[in-house]
Amino acid sequence: MRLLGLIGGMSWESTTLYYRHLNTIARDRLGGLHSARVLLWSVDFAEVAALQHAGDWAGAGALMADAARRLQDAGAEALMIGTNTMHKTADAVRAATSIPLLHIADATGRALAAAGSSSPALLATRYTMEQDFYRGYLSRHYGVDALVPDATGRESVHRIIYEELCRGIVRPESKAAILDEVARLREHGADGVILGCTEIGMILSQADSDLPVFDTTHLHAEMAMDFALATSR
Ligand code: GLU
Repeated sequence: MRLLGLIGGMSWESTTLYYRHLNTIARDRLGGLHSARVLLWSVDFAEVAALQHAGDWAGAGALMADAARRLQDAGAEALMIGTNTMHKTADAVRAATSIPLLHIADATGRALAAAGSSSPALLATRYTMEQDFYRGYLSRHYGVDALVPDATGRESVHRIIYEELCRGIVRPESKAAILDEVARLREHGADGVILGCTEIGMILSQADSDLPVFDTTHLHAEMAMDFALATSR
C-alpha cells in the first residue's frame, strides 16, 4: 500500500473525518485488520484562516508548500490538501514537490461526471464559491457549471463553516438554513449538491436531499485510497 501524505487541520474537525474515511475504505477494500498508511501534517488553522482573511494567498501557499515538502521528505508518495479552499494554493504545492497532488476537484469532477450532474449546487466557503480556482477548474476539466447561492446565502454558508462547523458546533437551524439554499438553487436548475467544504458532511448528508449529494471529503478519501492501492507503479 502506498503511503499518503495529508495536510490537515483545516479544520481538524474535517481531518478526523478524513482519517475515519481513509481507514474505513481500507478496511472495506482489504478486509481484516487492514488500515490506511497515512502521514499527517496538521497545521494551526488560526494561522491559515488569518492569511485567508487577509487575502495573503502567497503566504498561505508558502505554508502549504512547506507542509507538503515535509511530507514528501518523510516518505509520502502522494499529497492531499484536506480542504477545498486551500486548493487555491495547489500550484504552490506542486511547484514545491515532485510527488502527485491528489486534487479534491478531480475527485469531485469525476463523481459528478459519473452521476451525470452538470449543474450542481456548490456549498462552500466564500473563497471557493466566488473564486475561479474551484468552479473554474470544474468547468474547464469536467464541463460542470456549479451554481452558488446569492451574496446573502454565500455569507450565511461561509459563516456557518468558520463560526460553527470548524469549531465543532452543529446547529439544526444552520442545517435548515443550508437546506433553504439548496432548495433555492434547485429552483434555478441544480441537479446535485456538492458538499464543497470538508466540514459540511458534519451537518448534511445524502439522507437530507433527494438530489445526488457529493461529499468532497469522502470522494477525496476514495481517490486517495485508489492511489494507495493501485497495483501499477
Ligand atoms: N475545510 C473547508 C474547505 O473545505 C474550509 C476551511 C478552510 O478554509 O480550509 O474549504
